[in-house]
Amino acid sequence: MEYIDQPIAAQKRVALVAHDNRKASLIEWCQKHRAVLEQHQLLGTGTTGSKIEAATGLAVEKLFSGPMGGDQQLGAKICQGEVDILIFFWDPFEPMPHDPDVKALLRIAAVWNIPVACNGSSADMMIHSALMERSFSRLVPDYQGYLDSRKAETAV
Ligand code: PGA
Repeated sequence: MEYIDQPIAAQKRVALVAHDNRKASLIEWCQKHRAVLEQHQLLGTGTTGSKIEAATGLAVEKLFSGPMGGDQQLGAKICQGEVDILIFFWDPFEPMPHDPDVKALLRIAAVWNIPVACNGSSADMMIHSALMERSFSRLVPDYQGYLDSRKAETAV
């Protein structure tokens, strides 16, 4: 795979997702870091986004609820370059009906090389990073190059 630079802008599009047992922690984290979060654009899965909005007054673009496809919507947005950071407090103690979607979301975040925090201490480090307030270089797969090589490989 070849990679190209696709920088992440100073103003970030931050995706927020928490499983039910982790929602209180994420809401508390958002309250604590409200001043930083309000500098950025926020989006989240349906229930998580609604609860964060209600608890903090921050505007959150709400996708579908996770079990109804919200994780997949987020994954599609990551592929399309519409999400810069993923804060995903997933529950390590409970199986979920949408575990395949959770795995897919984490995989696609790795493919497109976006910063991901899955717990409070990682999210703290991320929000305190100097990179939160400036643009920085990020390598992503060279999709056009990948497509061109696939077309050449499969030429009939
Ligand atoms: P929810 O979805 O915010 O609608 O609860 C999150 C998830 O379960 O992935």
